[in-house]
Amino acid sequence: MNRYSFATALGWPDDEVLARLRALDLSERCSRCSGKGHVGVERTDETRCFKCAGAGDQLPKLSLKLCRNVAERVVKGDLHPYLRKKRRDAACTRATPTMIADCKQLSRRIEALGLPDGHPALASAAELVRGQGALVDVEALLQKNALDPETACVRLSSIREKLTALLISTAEAS
Ligand SMILES: [Zn+2]
Repeated sequence: MNRYSFATALGWPDDEVLARLRALDLSERCSRCSGKGHVGVERTDETRCFKCAGAGDQLPKLSLKLCRNVAERVVKGDLHPYLRKKRRDAACTRATPTMIADCKQLSRRIEALGLPDGHPALASAAELVRGQGALVDVEALLQKNALDPETACVRLSSIREKLTALLISTAEAS
């Protein structure tokens, strides 16, 4: 079977075949990079395996036998964790732009309080926006698709909470 007939037989989108087989632990080790995802010792964009795009695996032979086996596993619910995670990721991906905008807005409001240079609140806000692991880092990783959407949501929500607390406490004190 080819990928399209395999997907059609299972009622799957055809671009989801590898990801779903992977979730069922039925993907095969990439023959080009032997599952490492990279060729060579270093792990850079340049050494990423083009065959598997760095994932390290590839489609197995899509036989009718495999298709039947997969259909049974789907009925048993073996794909549920994957599908749930995918839904959560989609929801997180939709939420992140708003969360990033909220964080920027909060940081602008802290700057607009007119605090004197060197005020600790300004340093704290700058650290949350530009420090290591902070807002700009999360944004950069998201742009490179290098951050799990759920992890991004957790980090952004923590940054937003800290900025909110900082804004409230600083506004009250000044
Ligand atoms: Zn590969």
